[in-house]
Amino acid sequence: MRIDGKTRTCGLIGCPVEHTLSPVIHNTLSELLGINMVYVPFLVESEAVKSAVEGAYALNLLGMNATVPHKAAVIEHLKDVDDLAKRIGAVNTLVRVSGGYKGYNTDMNGLLRAMQSEQVGIDGETVLLLGAGGAARAVAFLCVSQNAKKVYIANRTLEKAQLVAEEVNASFGTDIVKVITMDDAAKIPENDIVAIQCTSVGLAPNNDDVVTSDETLYQKIKTGVDLIYNPYETRFMKLVREHGGFAMNGLKMLLYQGIIAYELWNQVSITQDQADHVLKKMKEAMGIAE
Ligand code: NAP
Repeated sequence: MRIDGKTRTCGLIGCPVEHTLSPVIHNTLSELLGINMVYVPFLVESEAVKSAVEGAYALNLLGMNATVPHKAAVIEHLKDVDDLAKRIGAVNTLVRVSGGYKGYNTDMNGLLRAMQSEQVGIDGETVLLLGAGGAARAVAFLCVSQNAKKVYIANRTLEKAQLVAEEVNASFGTDIVKVITMDDAAKIPENDIVAIQCTSVGLAPNNDDVVTSDETLYQKIKTGVDLIYNPYETRFMKLVREHGGFAMNGLKMLLYQGIIAYELWNQVSITQDQADHVLKKMKEAMGIAE
């Protein structure tokens, strides 16, 4: 990597940041495209978000990603916020504009692009969201914006699911988002559903955990998407596959949220070959054999 007087810097603010794969994504893209940009992680505590954003602007940083726990907190320190990100209430990408940064949410379009790359659609589908945290909330917005037929949200804490459903329904003037208890998820009348696993259950090192193991539910799932990518195959994905469904993990979502951010920062379009190359590098960094 060539670092000189013209090198631009982008970075990730979060806490923790040590295990991030984002430098692999962005530095590989810069290498592939011959763009003089370097991407580094910055450990930022919650009380330092404002000074981190202001400091980044003062230091002429081209852009930043924000991750847990700063995706909502960063918003009030931005010059402008994209409509989708505003609606979702979470920003993961900051793009330098005159006087500050404009916030975007590339997580959701990243998930959409990842699903499209596996020929998994949302349009006209019945979607079951497992979870009602930050990720599930954003996915619920995505599903309605992408014309899902119906969206069910099941969560351990039912009140949180209710809140998300109310917000999304109100935001789109619809009532297609429904709440269901985890125990009742299998009673959904529709078959051939798309289930998106948005809880942190099953995340390494707790690889054997799964948010539900209800056989009747898995028989209804034609496609299961787990936002988790470590482990590479979660127990949720195994159960989907054992019952004849197609399953994918969250690694491509991570890849494409990064690619969309990179495109915004550098005004470029990443080709499929370039995306495939970055995915290969991410898998290498995770120690996953092709
Ligand atoms: P979050 O806001 O902390 O939400 C966590 C969710 O998991 C909540 O619905 C919570 O239920 C549920 N949960 C946690 N422990 C549980 C348990 N023992 N039993 C049942 N439910 C439990 O987290 P988040 O930001 O939404 O992230 C969720 C997952 O998505 C994480 O694994 C994260 O790594 C992944 N993610 C991946 C990507 C990607 O690029 N692939 C991007 C974003 C997030 P309660 O409401 O009842 O607590």
